[in-house]
Amino acid sequence: MVIMEVVTNLNEINSNIGQACDKSNRNPSEITIIGVTKYVTIERTEETINAGIKNLGENRLEGFLEKYHYIQDQASWHFIGTLQSRKVKEIIDKVDVVHSLDRKSLAKEINKRTTTPMDCFVQVNVSGEESKHGLSPENVLPFISSLKAFENIRIVGLMTMAPHVENQEYLRDIFRKLASLRDEVRNEQLVHAPCNFLSMGMSNDYQLAIEEGATHIRIGSKLVGSLK
Ligand SMILES: *Cc1c(COP(=O)(O)O)cnc(C)c1O
Repeated sequence: MVIMEVVTNLNEINSNIGQACDKSNRNPSEITIIGVTKYVTIERTEETINAGIKNLGENRLEGFLEKYHYIQDQASWHFIGTLQSRKVKEIIDKVDVVHSLDRKSLAKEINKRTTTPMDCFVQVNVSGEESKHGLSPENVLPFISSLKAFENIRIVGLMTMAPHVENQEYLRDIFRKLASLRDEVRNEQLVHAPCNFLSMGMSNDYQLAIEEGATHIRIGSKLVGSLK
């Protein structure tokens, strides 16, 4: 297998981001790339930082702690996977953003453990697939409203994982639904939930996600490869 350099991959991704932005009248500066390092080594993670990626994502506690031990604050850390409440204390002072807030008990624990407000995305299961985590779309606004008393929780946006399918129109529809739900929450103008952002799009669908309004794309295999 030929292992491409991260910079080479990043150049291609940036060019695709440019195209998607042209198509949708957006500015590439609105898009944050989160390099998902869960598949790769510390060395490859360092290469990713050297290529200019400033935001990294991990989806498991163990993997995150292992990477954090070496990388520390050379990157902003995004926790993108399922998080057990009892594990919150192990990551709370190391993580900058949580993308997978999906229940009140977790919000309560984050709120209790953190000393500075935590930026959180609420994870939404737009596709309704049973295997996917996240709230049903109709529960999102009531859930977010119910977090008002947690002064250390700041809802910055919504996150979803699209199913692994080729059907572009189906994927587009999922991204559109998340965007319209985001608009709905944002229109409420809740102080604790500015909800400006959309964390959606991965290696196989990030161009579509950007065309539909993604502000944070989470890219693993197409950026760093999957060589672990
Ligand atoms: C693994 C993972 C990604 C990245 O997946 P790729 O398809 O390799 O880009 C993005 N988001 C989440 C939540 C993940 O677990």
